[in-house]
Amino acid sequence: MSETTTAMEDYVQMDAVDWVPFPEALCNGAIRWKLLHVSPESGAWTAIFDCPAGSSFAKHIHMGPGEYFLTKGRMHVRGGSVEGGATAVAPGYGYEACNAQHDHTEFDEDSEFYMTFLGPLNFIDDDGNTIALVGCEQVAQAWGAS
Ligand code: ZN
Repeated sequence: MSETTTAMEDYVQMDAVDWVPFPEALCNGAIRWKLLHVSPESGAWTAIFDCPAGSSFAKHIHMGPGEYFLTKGRMHVRGGSVEGGATAVAPGYGYEACNAQHDHTEFDEDSEFYMTFLGPLNFIDDDGNTIALVGCEQVAQAWGAS
């Protein structure tokens, strides 16, 4: 009766979903997340992240744009404002362009942000080699495995 290509409505009671550890290979520190939605028809996915003081995400490139809402704490993107990037302070909204490269996304205090990604994240090593391409399918698998 339903077509797999048809977008479906969705609702998540966020406080009824438990936090789970974000894959260790993709971050430093005990970052936790909740995957809220994936839209395979558009390549979009939405999650909320809990980032304790001292945590950071591994180096990555946004293959598509993304929008975030920092609900708590402080996030240094692209080195933070002292290095020409942005330092988001809650409550803060940010837009990251397609192909934005984030060498350091750091949290120096307990923080939380909600983000919708249009397309995968390409996690890379210091030589620019792909470690993991993380899109709809991969996040759904990682979430399902947790
Ligand atoms: Zn990023």
